[in-house]
Amino acid sequence: MPVIPNSLALIGNTPLVRLAGPSAETGCEILAKCEFMNPGGSVKDRAALYIVEDAEANGTLKPGGVIVEGTAGNTGIGLALVANAKGYRTIIVMPETQSREKMDTLRALGAELVLVPAAPYSNPGHFVHTSRRIAGETENALWADQFDNTANRMAHIHTTAPEIWAQTAGRVDGFICAAGTGGTIAGVGMALKERREDIVIGLADPHGASLYEYYRSGELKAEGSSVAEGIGQGRITGNLEGAPIDTQFRISDAEGLAQVHRLLMEEGLCLGLSSGINVAGAMALARQMGPGHTIVTILCDSGFRYLSSLYNPAWLAEKGLAVPPSLAAAGASR
Ligand code: PMP
Repeated sequence: MPVIPNSLALIGNTPLVRLAGPSAETGCEILAKCEFMNPGGSVKDRAALYIVEDAEANGTLKPGGVIVEGTAGNTGIGLALVANAKGYRTIIVMPETQSREKMDTLRALGAELVLVPAAPYSNPGHFVHTSRRIAGETENALWADQFDNTANRMAHIHTTAPEIWAQTAGRVDGFICAAGTGGTIAGVGMALKERREDIVIGLADPHGASLYEYYRSGELKAEGSSVAEGIGQGRITGNLEGAPIDTQFRISDAEGLAQVHRLLMEEGLCLGLSSGINVAGAMALARQMGPGHTIVTILCDSGFRYLSSLYNPAWLAEKGLAVPPSLAAAGASR
């Protein structure tokens, strides 16, 4: 393996792993991009790097500048790392409902953390609007604007999709993932469609999000709720505009969690809930397409980011979610 020239070049080029259990169960090859292996621990490092380098190139981010963003946490972590490596400061606005581990990580990375109450997008106090306002009031600031800034999906058009194409030698029949900003699904979807017109692009939508109904019937309508962090969108963001979505599945937290815990116990992969929802989605797409197909999805971030929640029996019980046998056994005193 050659020497990597600098820390930012560690972003991307993640391995594609075959998931044995989901593949055996569906008769398809279920393959997953290990985005938790990025230096900041999530798929959002790619978008962070592209947003910062795009702003440098177009002159909106200047030396000594400060990067401001509203985020469920992972984009903030990616931005803080990229900013540190390039000599910028970061101000990160995050809803206080997100995981404790992501907040601690942001503080440890030197970001200025602003926590706001969880609020609907229509509320001016929503984390996205708060970050826009802080950027407007801060000298020499860039508002990263990951939801509507299409430098986000360019990262996936230029890196994630070509990697998937090369790693599968072009033998990929379907791609599916959930959407937060929509950068991943739109970018990967567009770039894979360009290489193979009849590839099937699927959306795995959590409860509480509006995109399942939008792609099914044209109406933005949500149903239920989800504890998944970083996914679940209620509008067509700039990044989602023109996303070539062929089929959609609504995936419950229980279905996602079942995959999170089976991947941990059967394959030794410790993942966050959006990864579980993606794998459940990949299995649903596999069943729809039939055996013999190759389907790629995304393992967005690590479970170590959610030890206090997804892997905590008391938290699961409080949220009305089943405690998996492995955790119940680990919690028992000796
Ligand atoms: N999973 C997690 C854990 C995330 O933080 C995000 C980013 N918000 C996503 C999935 C969704 O990625 P995207 O923003 O590209 O839709």
